[in-house]
Amino acid sequence: MLQNIQQNMREPSTKKIAVIGAGFAGLASACSLAHKGFDVTLLEKNHQTGGRGRAFQHQGYSFDMGPSWYWMPEIFEQFFNKFGKKVSDYYELQRLDPSYRVFFQEGDPLDVPAAYEEFKQMVESFEPGAGSKMDRFMAEAKIKYDVSMADFVWKPSLSILEFAQPRLLIESFRLHLFSGFSSHAKKYFKHPKIIQLLEFPILFLGAKPEKTPAMYSMMNYADIMLGTWYPKGGMCKIAEAMTTLAKELGVRIITSATVNAIDVSLNEAHAIAFDGKTESFDAVVAAADYQHVESKLLAQKYRSYTEEYWNKRVMSPSSLLFYIGVNRKVSGILHHNLFFDEPFDRHAQEIYDNPAWPKNPLFYLCCTSATDSAAAPEGKENLFILIPVAPGLQSDESERMRYLKMCLERIKRHTGEDIEPDIEYVRSYAHEEFISDYNAFKGNAYGLANTLMQTAVMKPRMKSKKVKNLFYTGQLTVPGPGVPPSIISGQIVANEVEKYFQNR
Ligand SMILES: Cc1cc2nc3c(=O)[nH]c(=O)nc-3n(C[C@H](O)[C@H](O)[C@H](O)COP(=O)(O)OP(=O)(O)OC[C@H]3O[C@@H](n4cnc5c(N)ncnc54)[C@H](O)[C@@H]3O)c2cc1C
Repeated sequence: MLQNIQQNMREPSTKKIAVIGAGFAGLASACSLAHKGFDVTLLEKNHQTGGRGRAFQHQGYSFDMGPSWYWMPEIFEQFFNKFGKKVSDYYELQRLDPSYRVFFQEGDPLDVPAAYEEFKQMVESFEPGAGSKMDRFMAEAKIKYDVSMADFVWKPSLSILEFAQPRLLIESFRLHLFSGFSSHAKKYFKHPKIIQLLEFPILFLGAKPEKTPAMYSMMNYADIMLGTWYPKGGMCKIAEAMTTLAKELGVRIITSATVNAIDVSLNEAHAIAFDGKTESFDAVVAAADYQHVESKLLAQKYRSYTEEYWNKRVMSPSSLLFYIGVNRKVSGILHHNLFFDEPFDRHAQEIYDNPAWPKNPLFYLCCTSATDSAAAPEGKENLFILIPVAPGLQSDESERMRYLKMCLERIKRHTGEDIEPDIEYVRSYAHEEFISDYNAFKGNAYGLANTLMQTAVMKPRMKSKKVKNLFYTGQLTVPGPGVPPSIISGQIVANEVEKYFQNR
């Protein structure tokens, strides 16, 4: 296998590249650069790779710390294929069926089936005619998905001219870039449950549906048609696989290595300072949070964006998270469970319009051990609760526990399961930890909100405006937040680094 990879690789280069941060984007760029023949060093401040997609263990429980929804499996497959590998060389995927359970304010919980025909029957039962309308909605969403994946998401978006081709201009109208998601969904459907089902990926991706371009109905295609998957052993298997691949490609990975400065002179980065050492490099890829790199690692005159610019960005929600070990099995829930039993509009206002701790938030409950017995000790359950909250808030443990109690009460109301007395482990996580663990701007969980004004060329640039050999990648630049986009981002930036050396 190793021989395979080495045969695929280009001639080794003497050019040394530093990649700062070993999240999905950093790992993807390190692998791609090493594959292009560069001498790559990946520096990560935490003791493990994976960034927001890490896991931790506690007395037989294994908790994925961030992402839990494995969508768009072909992006992962394409990534490993580039190196002559397959996803199945590293981890085993399983499609979840039902995909997830939704608890509404009224009525029975709804299980979203993996099979499209069953999904259509379900929406038809809410609203006569919705089944055939769903066919049309999904056909349009497929076009958006295919066009975006074939072309748009792979653009470095350094110039509007990248999009100034007749074909792409025509495609951009087919993408519905200029109309809002909410009105788009309501053109097809009236029933609030259908609308909520379609709006859920938007809410968790971070923006109010009316402010999100209708283009993002492609996420409904990803959800309903391409399915929800689970890597056996947890989402942490993805970063583990990418780390193994990086090592196979010859990347030098240094963990527990906090980068303190990028040394620049005459508009060129020369060296990286980390942990009391300084090492020379020919180019730098910053895969840590963009605003942190700009404001903490670079002298002011080399920053592309001002503090004011960052403060005007619309961030995706942050999250209040709970990792919970329960001393028994819990019934009435699936692997993924969405609690849409409170009004969405009010919660969205508390995230975007008047940032504040929400009164009665929607939340997401994950039970990995429902699918994977290795996620918890025998007979026990591994739970993860995520409440989307506004970025920039603060909380103490007692405030957080009030939210945990609120969620547990709602779980009890809907499932009859009183979990609280059987909790044997709980760890909370919110803005303060996102900042201390990842240097996250305002404690953001998943980068910038997906608004039209923060799409493509309007996102923070992948290439520094002031330092010619400094590049940025990750969820705060193109194409955006999420595990698949971060993996794409890492590959795009590697191409830009290659072009930079070719054009010198
Ligand atoms: C709670 C949560 C749930 C999510 N759910 C999903 C989901 O279900 N599905 C999905 O697709 N996406 C999900 N996401 C989004 C997805 O996880 C992120 O978009 C993605 O992981 C971002 O990857 P990244 O490489 O850009 O950033 P990161 O993962 O943050 O990587 C950046 C790395 O840089 C390191 N770093 C920072 N500063 C320095 C420094 N000075 N020196 C050295 N290293 C440094 C950090 O430690 C980190 O490891 C979720 C995110 C969160 C937080």
